[in-house]
Amino acid sequence: MSYRGRFAPSPTGPLHFGSLVAAVASWLDARAAGGSWLVRMEDVDTPRTVPGAADGILRSLEALGLEWDEEVAWQSRRTALYEAALDALRGQGAVYRCRCSRKEIADSALRGIEGAVYPGTCRHLVLPAAERCAERFAVEEGILSFDDRLQGTVRQDVARDVGDFVLVRRTGVHGYQLAVVVDDAQQRVSDVVRGADLLASTPRQILLQRALALPTPRYLHVPVATDARGEKLSKQGLAPAVDASAAGSLLHAALAFLGQPRPQSSIAREILAEAARTWDPARIPRERGQRAPAALAREAPGES
Ligand code: GLU
Repeated sequence: MSYRGRFAPSPTGPLHFGSLVAAVASWLDARAAGGSWLVRMEDVDTPRTVPGAADGILRSLEALGLEWDEEVAWQSRRTALYEAALDALRGQGAVYRCRCSRKEIADSALRGIEGAVYPGTCRHLVLPAAERCAERFAVEEGILSFDDRLQGTVRQDVARDVGDFVLVRRTGVHGYQLAVVVDDAQQRVSDVVRGADLLASTPRQILLQRALALPTPRYLHVPVATDARGEKLSKQGLAPAVDASAAGSLLHAALAFLGQPRPQSSIAREILAEAARTWDPARIPRERGQRAPAALAREAPGES
């Protein structure tokens, strides 16, 4: 299979150092392999999408010399694909309707890796189609394991650690897990390189790939950038936007974060070309999280 990588930002805010690291890592991995690199805007979660954020991210990528191949894919224009996949899963009886409120689920005594585990309340009810419901994937018990190129063998019991997860919300918005699986397959993505905050989502994605008879890409999860408190830099956490006019120093910082040698040049395109030649994923720190340079996480003095 020829190498096809992708960067899949959610346009909920500007590009920050954490998302830049994911973009640089996936770009370098693709270019080092002589492969293609795609950009996909994960704007399926329309209520959280911030107007103008997608364009801002694309402009920052351009200014940093992170050129992409093919047209940018927009999840908001691909809902028919998600609906078709959902229909296929419904046809297998792998999906059920759920009317539990957030509060009811939060009150569940079962705790997993992402908070409350859905206790399966609606699993055996057959709720009428007329009632506005979410739809969940009925997860079978058992350990799922996969090999991450950096993190090694990852094992998860999705039923116990996460529970039956949402494929489509009550509002009709398709969930991230479903959309990402459909898109990676439809875009023939061979290699997913992204932040380790998504490591715990990968088993859910593999379950959906198997149920839909889709190939499983290779995975490489790089450390997420954190602030002094160990919190992931996030658009919602108002991490500062990268200043693309300082492209050279930003790229040097991203490469240092990824454990890669420092290119001589201070010009974005030259830095990237050299870094692609020397790219060695084995040098990436094998951590789930790593602190971002203070100036790029906008920490108050004395916070460390
Ligand atoms: N849209 C997700 C994010 O911005 C990334 C999804 C992925 O790479 O699979 O965190």
